[in-house]
Parts: sequence; structure tokens; C-alpha cells
Amino acid sequence: MTDVLNVRGVTKSYGGHPALKGVELKVKPGSCFGLLGPNGAGKSTLMKLLTGIIDADQGVIELFGLNIRKELPAIHRLIGYVPQDITLYEKLSGRQNLTFFGQMHGIRGSELKKRIAHVLEAVGLTERAGDEIASYSGGMKRRINIAAALLHQPKLVIMDEPTVGIDPQSRNHIFEMIRKLQREGVTILYSTHYMEEVEALCDEVAIIDHGQIVSQGGLRELLELHAVKAVYAEAAGVSEPPVVEGVVRATQEGSGWVLECDHPLKVMSELSAQWADDGVIVKALELMQPTLDSVFLKLTGTTLRD
Ligand code: ADP
Repeated sequence: MTDVLNVRGVTKSYGGHPALKGVELKVKPGSCFGLLGPNGAGKSTLMKLLTGIIDADQGVIELFGLNIRKELPAIHRLIGYVPQDITLYEKLSGRQNLTFFGQMHGIRGSELKKRIAHVLEAVGLTERAGDEIASYSGGMKRRINIAAALLHQPKLVIMDEPTVGIDPQSRNHIFEMIRKLQREGVTILYSTHYMEEVEALCDEVAIIDHGQIVSQGGLRELLELHAVKAVYAEAAGVSEPPVVEGVVRATQEGSGWVLECDHPLKVMSELSAQWADDGVIVKALELMQPTLDSVFLKLTGTTLRD
């Protein structure tokens, strides 16, 4: 099956400052693909290249097997782009804005009305559709922006950090909508610097740092391969780190200990036996869930958190 997206050796500099340094990326049909990286990593630049807003200095970009340098109009019919900056007419209502964007795509009449009703429903704004955009919250504006990108029923939706600075309710609506789109077979490319969002939404992920993709693959695969394995252990009156074979690092967390190790189950069983022998009251002895944050730390040497 043709990849929805195939990026090879893409570079981009701004005035001699490299923003992307040889990006390689493949996105399979039907996936919800997370592009995860800190601010300044190059996510927006990559998304602008994929939508033809700016041109790459070098490299090849293909969407649905079509080369972006040769077949941009055909690509535009297949993709929807939600930029970070909100582009709406404040004095018009949500519905009037969508009418305008739909007409730009050449959709008219009853078909346009039907599609507007559908996308308003999808982003949860049917009730507010008649109100001026100026009266919307930031999150509602973002949802209308997303609705606008869905009117022409794209097969790939590219979203650039769609939840930055918005309220939890809007975030939930966006997440629900993305899951529904994915069920309908639409491919999603979602950029974010929040690893929790990738963990909640995405099945595939690429980690980008300083303009390079440092790793990509299935979310579970990446966690399995790179995440630090650890056990959380807490017992009454234990203030020194427990000494168990196989533990490579013990860090205090709250009133317990995070024990990093390659074989957490073995460490748990040994510590459990040790504490039983010592007559210690165990408060917690748990396997810690691997996180993308620890994957990021291992691959880049820095943490993703601000
Ligand atoms: P992200 O979306 O991951 O935060 P960006 O793609 O916005 O990253 O930025 C990548 C790098 O390129 C940063 O160093 C940023 O300062 C720089 N950059 C982005 N856009 C421009 C621009 N229009 N002019 C100059 N530098 C830019």
C-alpha cells in the first residue's frame, strides 16, 4: 500500500540557520501519527513543507505517492491543514466562516450546508454556530479552524499543535473528533510537545529534536525498545534505598523509591522476599509504566518537559 506520506532527506534553513537537517518520515494509511518534539524542534516547519506553504531546500516529499513539487493542487484536494495560528473572520459567525472556506474549496448549495452541519457536529459547536467568532473562546475558535479543514473531506489531516493554550473541554472535543476520523479511515498527522497527548491518541510516533527525527515507529515498540524500566517501592520506616541485585539506579520519589532496572519483575520478587524476611510493612511495590518522556531522555539526553 502506498504511504500517505513519504519524506526523504528534507532540509530547510532560515537565513543560514538550519531548522530541518535531513528529515526522513513515513506515515502509513489509517494511522494517527504523532510528531513529538520540544518547542523549536522543527515541527511547524515540517508541517508547512508538507502543505506546500514553504519549499524545502533539498529532499523529496510525496503525499499519496504524489510529488509535492509537481502535483500540489491534487495534494491539496486530499489533505486538510490546521495551522497553529487561527485564521478566522471575527465579525462573521462560525457558520458564515465555514461557508466561506467551503466555497473556496468549490463546494456549494445543499452539499455545502450538509457538510457544514456535519463538521459542526464533529467539533461540538452546532449550538454556537450562529454566534460571532469574536464571542468564542480560544478553544472554540480552534475547533472552528479544524472544522474548516475538514469540509472538503480530506484523506489526511495535518494538525499543528492544536491543543496549545485551549480549555480542557475543547481538548476533549478535539480528541474525540480525531478518534472518530481515524475510525472513518482518515490518516492523522498530529504535532505536539505534550507526550501525554501522543500516549493517549497516537499509534505511531516520530520524535523530532533539533531538526532531526531521532526515532520513529509504533508507540508500543518505541516504549518497549527505549523506555527506562523501573519499579516503585515504598515501605514503612525504610529511608535508605533498597539494595537489590540488578538495580542500576535508585531515586527517591515522595516517600518511596524508583528503582531502575532491566528486569523489574525479578527485582520486585527479590525485594518482596527481602522485606518479608525483615518484617517490613510494604506500602507499595509496583511496576512503573514506561513513558515517552524517558524514551525522549534516553534518545536525546534532555527531557521533553518545559
Ligand atoms: P516547532 O514547531 O517544533 O516549535 P519551528 O519549526 O517553529 O519548531 O522552528 C524550528 C526552528 O526554526 C527554530 O529555531 C525557529 O526559531 C526557526 N524558525 C521557524 N520559523 C522561522 C522563520 N520564519 N524565520 C526564521 N527562523 C524560523
